[in-house]
Amino acid sequence: MSKGIAGSDNINKGVSVRKAKFFENAAIFRCPVCMNKMEARDLNSIICLNGHCFDIARTGYINFLQRTVKTEYHEEMFRSRKTVSGTGLFDPMLRCISDMILSRIRSLGDKRIMILDAGCGEGSHLGKIISELHNKDITKVLGAGIDISKEGIIMASKTYHDIVWCVADLANLPFMDKQFDVIINILSPSNYREFTRVLKDDGILIKVIPGSSYLKELRDIFYNESGKQEYSNHNVLELYRQNFSILDVRAVKYNKIVGKDELSHIIAMTPLSWAITHEKKEQALITGISRITGDFAIIKGTKKGR
Ligand SMILES: [Zn+2]
Repeated sequence: MSKGIAGSDNINKGVSVRKAKFFENAAIFRCPVCMNKMEARDLNSIICLNGHCFDIARTGYINFLQRTVKTEYHEEMFRSRKTVSGTGLFDPMLRCISDMILSRIRSLGDKRIMILDAGCGEGSHLGKIISELHNKDITKVLGAGIDISKEGIIMASKTYHDIVWCVADLANLPFMDKQFDVIINILSPSNYREFTRVLKDDGILIKVIPGSSYLKELRDIFYNESGKQEYSNHNVLELYRQNFSILDVRAVKYNKIVGKDELSHIIAMTPLSWAITHEKKEQALITGISRITGDFAIIKGTKKGR
């Protein structure tokens, strides 16, 4: 091989950078098989005391699952969510989360901040939050995102290179105890036992749940006459309250003008569409919806007994 092929050198350098974040942070990981601590063997894998070894993929993620799990989230859905995220539909909600994290950071002084996104999908929420923090000169921050969907994590790892991405089970997080200052959990299921375990004692859990008007323009068309168009987040909030002490709940509600193309991506990304016929989706597209409502409750809390 000849030296000085700049293109391939750059690619290899890029791969090294993406893998190095695992090498440098190997101590945060816990083996999901035997629960022992792990260390980096080299740039290509991390290994536990019992020899369970996990490869670091070239794009910069680790798959901690023993077998592939089929989910209802597939690549096309994630692509649509990424497109929708790019148009800014979630931005007011994400800014509220960043503000909560910023006030937490200010109270911690000069320490490095560890943020876990549990159920990160294709990574755009965590990616945007980390860049918002960077824009505010918060550079000592490490983001980690986990999702059970390999498609989502691959997409995330290709876009955001300085975040630690893992395919992992929410019920068996591949992290040692008390690693994170902040856990975020956006429109995604929770596992409070694992959240309690991996969160530091003074850490905060920020959970986002939909408000009753979230995407109501779609809900009205999809569920008319079925009584399902009214969504209540009461039970989810109650479950949070049973497991964590609530410090603050913010309601963030707004609406955004959308074009037909964006609307089709919103329909494609939301689980609301799963049980909906093709005809109903078409109807939503031709009805001429021009605004979409964002409505979220953002709950901040700490471990119980503090
Ligand atoms: Zn092990």
